[in-house]
Amino acid sequence: MFTDTHCHLIAPELRFRLPEIVAQAAAVGVTGLLVPSASIGDWDAILQLRQPEIRAVAIGVHPWFADEWRQETEGSLKQILQQNTNAWVGEIGLDFLHDTPRETQVSVFRLQLQLAQQFSRPIIVHNVKASAALADIIRAEKFTCGGIIHAFSGSLEEARVFIRHSFKIGIGSLLLNPRAKKVHIAAQSLPLNSIVLETDSPYMQPENRNTPANIRQIAEIVADLRGISVQDLAAVCEENWCDLVAKSS
Ligand SMILES: [Zn+2]
Repeated sequence: MFTDTHCHLIAPELRFRLPEIVAQAAAVGVTGLLVPSASIGDWDAILQLRQPEIRAVAIGVHPWFADEWRQETEGSLKQILQQNTNAWVGEIGLDFLHDTPRETQVSVFRLQLQLAQQFSRPIIVHNVKASAALADIIRAEKFTCGGIIHAFSGSLEEARVFIRHSFKIGIGSLLLNPRAKKVHIAAQSLPLNSIVLETDSPYMQPENRNTPANIRQIAEIVADLRGISVQDLAAVCEENWCDLVAKSS
């Protein structure tokens, strides 16, 4: 089986045809899903999803929406983590190409990282041109619960820093672009026990047509780059998933 570790099932492109989307994915062996939130407005809808394929959800405030954070947001997130043992924290992170002020992004990321540590939950990290700053905060906060560096597009050195801090590297739709050199190098060279697969559906493809079923195509590319079978890749990704879950309470 494969798990799509990043699919935005409540995006309108997917939400209104969920049974069909989930069945299409299952038909090609993608029977596990992780559903991240981006803005606070996503939280309720995600927590109400009942598809048995959903192995975890990630609740948090994405750096693009960091200015939505209010004092009471911390209490709400705490309560959700208390009540939902399959809730990770995400997607959170830093995007240094986005116009949300860096200070706001950093303080909102830091608060959510502290909550994840307090509740022993992995995090889903959105990282754009911010690897060094993210690693500094993860180190300073002594964060030990790991998580996934989503849509990774950095260097092997950057990846290794995160792997040392118990993170897995999310490899996904960026691979469908043959010119995305760094992503191909990462998919080919990172230790197999450090990768997980993701689509970031419905995004990353024209007209938001991406769906979790595309994990199959991503898996075939990765298996090919590594010279292993798709079945072996599935098994190793499943072990990696279990590794992450073992870190949450
Ligand atoms: Zn996302």
